[in-house]
Amino acid sequence: MSQDLSRYHRQMLLPGFGEDGQRKLLASKVLVLGCGALGTVIANLLARAGVGHLVIADRDFIEMTNLQRQVLFDEQDVKDAIPKAEAARRRIEQINSQVKVTAVIDDINHANIEKLAEGCDAIIDGVDNFETRFLANDCAVKLGIPYIYGGAVGTVGMTYAILPHTPTGDSPWERAGVATPCLRCIFEQAPPPGMNPTCETAGVLAPVVSIISSYEVSEALKVLTGNWDAVCPTMLSIDTWSNTVKQFKVRRAYDVGECVCCKGRRFEHLEGKYSSATTTLCGRNAVQLSQPTGANGKLDFDRIAERLRAHGTVTASKFMLRADIKDNGQQYELTLFTDGRAIVKGTKEAKTAKSIYAKYVGA
Ligand SMILES: [Zn+2]
Repeated sequence: MSQDLSRYHRQMLLPGFGEDGQRKLLASKVLVLGCGALGTVIANLLARAGVGHLVIADRDFIEMTNLQRQVLFDEQDVKDAIPKAEAARRRIEQINSQVKVTAVIDDINHANIEKLAEGCDAIIDGVDNFETRFLANDCAVKLGIPYIYGGAVGTVGMTYAILPHTPTGDSPWERAGVATPCLRCIFEQAPPPGMNPTCETAGVLAPVVSIISSYEVSEALKVLTGNWDAVCPTMLSIDTWSNTVKQFKVRRAYDVGECVCCKGRRFEHLEGKYSSATTTLCGRNAVQLSQPTGANGKLDFDRIAERLRAHGTVTASKFMLRADIKDNGQQYELTLFTDGRAIVKGTKEAKTAKSIYAKYVGA
């Protein structure tokens, strides 16, 4: 392989990089989960850094309200109604032709994530829901691939690099003594739907997205170049509005816990135990979605209704909540039941229904 490395000169000057490090990056394959606010910054930086192969997976199309923070897209992409993953592929082709991009326009779920991660050296999180994060965590632990978690909403973002424990204990990061607890060591379960704000309901400040996703990429570059000692061992939380930075020591979560995933090696999310199921309702232009509500039981309608009011008419009773939502120029009617079941009217596509649910209710 004799690729021209001159464009990476400023990066190769850095300690821990050099020509060797650069060649490692060019030979690397990374799965970017989601290509929205975090994902576009991640894909942009990885491509410019010369990570050889990016698999970018996203189920959504670009909307005008995305342009405030999703750096790879422009107004023409909105007019042309291009899926995010494909628009990112086209843009990156212009940015760095040495990088191969595989655009996957699909919902990320338990049936396809292992295949998406096949042969990848790292998985990077740019998704908007915990269902997919726990799935990514299972996949990373099972396949022994580093997974960098990241999320941002409002003015707060969090990130954390998972260097998973493996059954043999002989991964490069374990040999370097820097393996970290997995997501399930720290949070046993995903929060039930409607518990956490989403970007659609609470808003999001673009700089916090940039900071968190840039941090994720920084960790990824350490991982891909084998600079294990430099990987941050703590979970980082940043609020750019209140100017607070917190670091949570999480190492003990593995030592003292009985994690079903990385200690028990049971991959419940990959088995589909907690995944949402979708059914297209014949002749109704609607999709039914069942989203497990977890151990905490029922959805908090008051809380969800309050957030959805900014988007249209909301009616709630003890048994159900109905909201009219306009998203990307399309009108949807979202009906929620207390057990987590939902009907999204206005589409026959399962992935569109899941996207609406994740954006406005949160999973
Ligand atoms: Zn674990």
